[in-house]
Amino acid sequence: MTELTVMPRIRNAPRLSVIRTVMLLPMMALVLVLGLLTGTAQAQDPQRDYRGFFAGSVLDGSGWTACAAPITWSIDVSALRRNQRSNEVRRMARSLKQWAQATDLTMRFTGRERLRVDPVFHTLHPNNDDPLRERHIYISFIREGEDPLMVDPVAGLAMPARVHSDTGEVFGGVAMFRARHVRNTREVTGYALKGLYLHELGHVFALGHADQSVNAMYPVVGDRKKLGPGDTKGARAMLKPCRV
Ligand SMILES: [Zn+2]
Repeated sequence: MTELTVMPRIRNAPRLSVIRTVMLLPMMALVLVLGLLTGTAQAQDPQRDYRGFFAGSVLDGSGWTACAAPITWSIDVSALRRNQRSNEVRRMARSLKQWAQATDLTMRFTGRERLRVDPVFHTLHPNNDDPLRERHIYISFIREGEDPLMVDPVAGLAMPARVHSDTGEVFGGVAMFRARHVRNTREVTGYALKGLYLHELGHVFALGHADQSVNAMYPVVGDRKKLGPGDTKGARAMLKPCRV
């Protein structure tokens, strides 16, 4: 099978999350305009307010398979403050659990590990150069300068990073968060982080942006406790049948 490494498509549809502050105007404006331009009549119904990450590309229709085998995940929290690490692992686990419940997929945590950023492909690798695991999501809080896209005001970047281009099966995902943003606990609340994690993980589950702020995939990321109706419907719609 042919494997395709996915790149974030910044110009067409930003997958970078920006935070609701006054500073970030150029990029946020772009995100908002795109949201409005691509809105359709059916998107009035919040349950139908979703689109695929790959919509409009040759990989349209690609998604994870609805197989019983768990999707595994690991995380690098070494760039966070020591007293934050366990909390953020838990917050990420709870965010993943919401997507797992939406999709009926099983998630299994394989532990913390050191990950290396590939600044060209904007992806993550095990630091020890082990091969990439399949059906696995790599998550990392990255330091300033590790990836040229991850500069203020960007807080996160994520994608279904590996796809079999002939079957459209996604078998790898990547989510990166800018450590300095997450460390800024004076200004960034727990619910803001939850909103950010839910949003970026939605990209991993092959969702693009939504038009309505009731959904976590709305491109302006704010405080949030749970997924919206379009997120849940959309995540299910992106799944491909298990062929095994
Ligand atoms: Zn996004």
